[in-house]
Amino acid sequence: MISKYVNSIKNIARPDEHIADKILRININRVFYLSVVSALARIFSIISFVSKSPTEYINENIWRFGIIVSHATYLVLLIILCILSYKQKKSDRPGFLTIATLYVAVVLILLFSVVIASIDQLVTPSITPFIIACISIGVIFLIRPLHTLLIFASGYIIYHFAIGIVQADLFILLSNRINGFTSIILGIFLSFVLWKSNVENLQLKEHILFQQKELEDKNKELEHLATHDSLTGLINRRFFEEKALQEILRIKRYGEGSCLFLLLDIDNFKCINDKYGHPAGDKVLQSVASILKTQLREIDIVSRIGGEEFAIILVNLDAKAGEIVAETLRNSIEKEIITIDGQEINITVSIGITFIDNSIDSYEEVYAYADKALYVAKAKGKNQIDIELKQ
Ligand code: GH3
Ligand code: MG
Ligand code: MG
Repeated sequence: MISKYVNSIKNIARPDEHIADKILRININRVFYLSVVSALARIFSIISFVSKSPTEYINENIWRFGIIVSHATYLVLLIILCILSYKQKKSDRPGFLTIATLYVAVVLILLFSVVIASIDQLVTPSITPFIIACISIGVIFLIRPLHTLLIFASGYIIYHFAIGIVQADLFILLSNRINGFTSIILGIFLSFVLWKSNVENLQLKEHILFQQKELEDKNKELEHLATHDSLTGLINRRFFEEKALQEILRIKRYGEGSCLFLLLDIDNFKCINDKYGHPAGDKVLQSVASILKTQLREIDIVSRIGGEEFAIILVNLDAKAGEIVAETLRNSIEKEIITIDGQEINITVSIGITFIDNSIDSYEEVYAYADKALYVAKAKGKNQIDIELKQ
């Protein structure tokens, strides 16, 4: 129970590298836009302070000078940060320099807020720049909790001493230190809350994406199972009929092109099963499928439509060329020696052929012609091809 709790805290405090990379990308984008906006705000501040005419109060003039110098320095650093973060934004993989840019930006914002708030003490007890910086860092950047603690704690120590140098009124000093401390706590709190919710959101997103991918893979697997024969890997009867019908309709629609339809049946397959056993019969079926796959072209459609029966569509072939292909197939199967468990098995096949042209209207019609041709090939003594065409 406790270890589960500790693990979930660890998981959020130190998310895996993939999520850390995503967070770094979000941060570096924010560094870029924030440095652009801040640089513009600095220019506006400098113009406002420069255009103000000096007064007879020394403190006010020192304050004005200090503010102009610190804003100008801050502006130069912001421009450098802007260039650095832009380069990091464009890089393919965030690395050490990206992390460095982010932390330099955070430290700069905090340091300059301390400097400006301290200089402000010359004319006002307000510490607004420091409060704004604490809240901005907490809200804008996603920083690991431990780093947040370190940065804010060091920031407060610097603030505590810096403000003590300039603020002479002890009551105001005490009030400002307490207010500064409250701002730091608020910044840390905001940073923790936003880090946690962002990490959890990203983790959830990752999880959903992973599940989506798993579902897609499962769907593909199911689709494959529904359309393929598991023994040979060829497409099954249902899918073959769909593809055959598409070819028939294509030829009918365009009125041109032709295909050969082949029905191939292993001769005396029952005897092979009886003599060598069913598993050996399965291996014979796999061997025939593999011969068909290697001998035919990628565009041809090859299927195991039942037991030891295969159906083939030779796409865009005329009857003469088709007959040659069928004879070559029959011949190579006859010559193939299939070795199973040290036993050599020879098989033969009979092939019924028909032609698909624009006179063919349905799958059933073309199948009937090929089946008739196969019947004739078997009747004539097997191990041969026969062709039956629509008159
Ligand atoms: P023919 O030359 O007339 O085609 O005779 P045949 O013995 O090849 O044909 P028949 O239809 O008499 O027998 C087919 C056999 O195929 C019967 C069946 O047990 C077997 N068979 C069907 N599916 C499979 C299978 O997936 N694996 C194995 N090993 N045998 C199968
Ligand atoms: Mg047979
Ligand atoms: Mg058969």
